[in-house]
Amino acid sequence: MTASARLLIVGPQGSGKGTQGVRIAETFGIPVVSTGDIFRANIKGGTELGQKVTAILDRGDLVPDELTGEIVRDRLAQDDAANGFLLDGYPRNTAQVGHLEEFLAGRGESLDAVILLDVPRDESISRLSLRAIEQGRSDDTEDAIAHRLDIYERETAPIIDVYSEKGIVDRIDGVGSLDEITERIVAALDARGLRVAV
Ligand code: AMP
Repeated sequence: MTASARLLIVGPQGSGKGTQGVRIAETFGIPVVSTGDIFRANIKGGTELGQKVTAILDRGDLVPDELTGEIVRDRLAQDDAANGFLLDGYPRNTAQVGHLEEFLAGRGESLDAVILLDVPRDESISRLSLRAIEQGRSDDTEDAIAHRLDIYERETAPIIDVYSEKGIVDRIDGVGSLDEITERIVAALDARGLRVAV
């Protein structure tokens, strides 16, 4: 059986949010909605959207809010997201938080929990440098990494305050083994009454 949970996972690049997001979504039987993955799939497929965003991603800049919002709304309107979803990489600034809130409110919904993966900047940088070697992502160059971490600190970190005021943030220590971190997240969600139905 599928549990209903509307989740957001946030953390600096290299915090492991992509990996943990997939694990948590599998646990709850909900889809991961990753804007970064959607953009990369479009770039790979050579679509019109992909052509529009290639240079932006390579620089490590943010894709315009309006375009990103449209993509997320379309994705969340699909049937598999009706009972829950895990957002990874969206919202990424306070304007996007506003757009998402408005969209969800229109469906009578809101986020149940925001998982914040806490990882020191040094650790993020060394994990990203390793990923650059392993995966060859075009935005994992030294300059783009530093730029993305700066954007995270300047634009994305403030969204945590917005969600903290709503009392839905779970701050998770993101240093440890993959299993340990997943267990910490599951325990935090469990404490909110967000449990996997059996
Ligand atoms: P990620 O895989 O989440 O690190 O995202 C990779 C890149 O996609 C980012 O550096 C941005 O260029 C773009 N991107 C992903 N999500 C968003 C978003 N919510 N708003 C704007 N740009 C985004």
